[in-house]
Amino acid sequence: MVGLGSYSEGELGPALKETKHCHLAGIVSGSEDKRKRWRKEYDIPESNIYCYEGFDSIKDNSAIDIIYVVLPNSMHKEYVIRASQAGKHVICEKPLACTVEECDEMIAACRRAGVMLSVGYRLHFDPFNLQMMRLAREKAYGNVKRISASHGLRSAQGWRLDKELAGGGPLMDVGIYCVNAGRYITDLEPIAVHAREGEKKDKKKFATIEESLTWTMEYPNGVTAECSCSYSQYGNHLRIEADNGWFEIAPSFSYSGLKGNTSDGKMDIEPINQQAAQMDDFALAIIDKRSTPVPGEMGRQDMKIIEAIYESMKSGRRVEIHET
Ligand code: NAD
Repeated sequence: MVGLGSYSEGELGPALKETKHCHLAGIVSGSEDKRKRWRKEYDIPESNIYCYEGFDSIKDNSAIDIIYVVLPNSMHKEYVIRASQAGKHVICEKPLACTVEECDEMIAACRRAGVMLSVGYRLHFDPFNLQMMRLAREKAYGNVKRISASHGLRSAQGWRLDKELAGGGPLMDVGIYCVNAGRYITDLEPIAVHAREGEKKDKKKFATIEESLTWTMEYPNGVTAECSCSYSQYGNHLRIEADNGWFEIAPSFSYSGLKGNTSDGKMDIEPINQQAAQMDDFALAIIDKRSTPVPGEMGRQDMKIIEAIYESMKSGRRVEIHET
């Protein structure tokens, strides 16, 4: 695990105590204090503890098979490429990178090195979101007509407020879940987007990034997705309107506490540890020599949509997305 910040500390580390097919073999951190603390907590041998300067020597460590990049967004590209050059499979946190161009370089590097690249899209393993995918795919309520999704939080700070490090604002961080949900509900790529930036109430805090954003995604079968994201207003839902009913989850994008409802009543679903399921699936994909359901290419597609949303936000016009 590279980068022992809040997501690693609060979610991924604890999840690795529950995984069955992988475990926390090693860590990379710039902080001696953290290296010591994690070493003790996870019983990691000294030979598997790295600082950033020593990162590339992981190539000689056969005890490490996967490198999980959990760094600020602008650092993803460098560390994914270096991980691939060390001959290790890679999981990279979302968003895969800050631009499509960067995603392409990362995907090409992993392909060249013969290693697998996946994105930390944990919701593809979450039973509530899987149920939403299933209801849409099986047309349980008829054809999907309309999607609405929102994700917003008020706790963003530090590098997340700096475009240089984050690549953008709430769209890159939390809005990306709505972008990704549009795909797993429709199984399609949007053909056009139309976005509008929300009013910037705190011009100092949000000097380099948007504070909030609403956008529409149009799919080739006529389905539309109305989405919003924000760093100043809470939001967390995914709702689908279909011909003969509706289904929704709210909260939909959290680590836990998800709740689902349909026009027929409550969803009765047992929650699981999303991150443990995500990491176990990647380990099994490597062992079984199969592809991952959340490959780098998916992260790239989301970045392509995000770039179109930002283009529309700036121009105020509907932006078409073409296949490339
Ligand atoms: P964080 O700020 O808590 O941690 C970032 C880590 O990177 C820290 O340990 C920090 O020391 C280290 N770092 C190294 N160089 C740095 C630099 N130049 N500037 C700042 N930090 C530096 O962030 P986080 O919330 O853990 O997020 C890390 C990544 O994980 C992001 O890409 C984020 O989008 C992603 N994330 C994903 C989820 C999810 O649900 N999949 C949830 C939270 C975060």
